[in-house]
Amino acid sequence: MKPSSVLFLLKMMNPINSHSNLYDISLFTSIEQEMRSTLKKLIGDFIIADDSTRSEIEEQVIEIVVSAYSENCENPLYCEYVGLIIQYLLDYFLQIRTTHESEFYHFLNFLSHFPITQDSPYYSYIAKSAKEKQEKEQEYIELFNQLQLLYILTENGDYANAAEFLRILEPKVDINNLGLWILIQLSKAGVLRYQNQHRELLRTHLDLIIEIYNRDGSDCAINLIIRWLISIPWHKQGIIKKYLLLRMYDYLEEQKSLNSAMVLYELFTLEDRFVSSAEKIEYQRVLIKYPASVLNVQQLHSLYFFAGYYNCGVLSNFKDSIQNYQYSNYFLHKSWDSLLSLSHFMRDCLDPEHYYSAMPFLESRIRELSNQASLQNNAYVESLQANFYKIEELYEKVGELSLTDSLTGLRNRRYLEGNIFQMIVLAARHNVPVCFSMIDIDFFKLINDNYGHLVGDYVLKEIAAILSAEFRKSDVIVRYGGDEFLIILFDSDPNLSYSMMEELRNKIEVHTFEYQNLKINITISIGIACDFHKSNKPTNLSKCISFADQACYAAKTNGRNRVEIYKSEKQPENNC
Ligand code: GH3
Ligand code: MG
Repeated sequence: MKPSSVLFLLKMMNPINSHSNLYDISLFTSIEQEMRSTLKKLIGDFIIADDSTRSEIEEQVIEIVVSAYSENCENPLYCEYVGLIIQYLLDYFLQIRTTHESEFYHFLNFLSHFPITQDSPYYSYIAKSAKEKQEKEQEYIELFNQLQLLYILTENGDYANAAEFLRILEPKVDINNLGLWILIQLSKAGVLRYQNQHRELLRTHLDLIIEIYNRDGSDCAINLIIRWLISIPWHKQGIIKKYLLLRMYDYLEEQKSLNSAMVLYELFTLEDRFVSSAEKIEYQRVLIKYPASVLNVQQLHSLYFFAGYYNCGVLSNFKDSIQNYQYSNYFLHKSWDSLLSLSHFMRDCLDPEHYYSAMPFLESRIRELSNQASLQNNAYVESLQANFYKIEELYEKVGELSLTDSLTGLRNRRYLEGNIFQMIVLAARHNVPVCFSMIDIDFFKLINDNYGHLVGDYVLKEIAAILSAEFRKSDVIVRYGGDEFLIILFDSDPNLSYSMMEELRNKIEVHTFEYQNLKINITISIGIACDFHKSNKPTNLSKCISFADQACYAAKTNGRNRVEIYKSEKQPENNC
């Protein structure tokens, strides 16, 4: 592992607010120390130079960078040089950053909300910011809209149309109209990048940053540096981008400002190999607390969608995930709206020929959004499905843990295991005799076989109802197995139990079970075992039940439709 990556990992483990130089991209560059010092000095001189010497210094910087690469800006060395320049500019501006109210800072915020049409609540505000000199209103509005359009075309990647508009519009805007000039310069940078004119591109960015800094302060300049940083295709050099962003965030994090929001959002969108999902969700959580206007609808959509997707992996975050999906859905709708308004705006402002040639770029945005929509749907349904299975599993578990038999509503066997023991101990303490009666339906299988399971179920339910009506609340009635019921009678001796069971047996024998047009008669066999607590040993529940079962078996073998009492040979009085 390179020392730099160790450093990086260490830093990632600690909170980011040390304002240190840990995020120094010199760690990654192959540019020699001497050249780095020269470049740093030139940038420092450039920032403080007066108008007459500035372009001279600028030329030297450009010369160094341009001679370092041959073909295109994907050249790693080019990225390293530009990365260093950005770092030196940043270090300067971040340290002298003042928090004075900048006039154009808010204007820069609205660039990511374009198009801003006249019916938008922001329109008059942004129009005022963009405009310095009083001009004829109508002319100004037209020019502003054309510049918006130019900016949108470059943002959409429609550089061919943008180049043509730039040629027409550039002469109409001078630096005194600072807002409009920013629009022109940012659009121009896009076109120059597309045309691979790196010398001009570098000059445009440097001019833009220094002009805005001199006129409007460091916050605006930092914002433009961030925009520059974002617009560079870093490719394999993505780690430089991450370092520069972290370096900025290191300084900006305590302010919930546009600049820190932009930096965080860029960190959030970095490729997965540079930021883990856990880091991303942290960025998301911080960003969501920012004032809503610093992010646009697409960004908000992505943030909430990511959070929904991230959280749905953990069952305990299910509620969170649903809520985030809901928000992302809302912003997805808003994104469609904004795309629609973009399309209207372009149709209104472009002549048919240009509109036609800009269509593919709009279409690609539509495709992107529709992919997002289906991705979101899939993720949402998957999350619902996963959670549905979990819930189903939980239901099953709850069912297993339940103490009630779902068919008859009687207590089930688990109830015996958990609760009866206490009652029997209590009964023993107070010398209360306890009798166990096992009831089994005779030839029940035939009912199922002859009439079907539903009828069998009905008979079971009906018997359960009869049992519940027949016995006291203090007696415990349990569905012990398929067609077996166990009744535990407290304070009842064998004779009393016997007569009660005889009564029950008789009642069932004469009862007609009516199901639709069927009339069914059944009989039951009953075995009784009693416990008088005469032995000093504690009552053995399973033994008592087993004796009742044996008595029931005897009733079966003795001809069914009978009641038998279990008799212990050793202790005839206490038959358990
Ligand atoms: P015996 O007189 O010897 O008890 O004969 P039997 O046919 O009743 O035999 P046994 O008690 O062994 O059969 C119980 C039957 O009860 C077998 C099973 O198909 C049926 N059964 C168990 N649980 C249910 C249930 O929830 N619903 C229905 N319809 N049938 C059940
Ligand atoms: Mg049976």
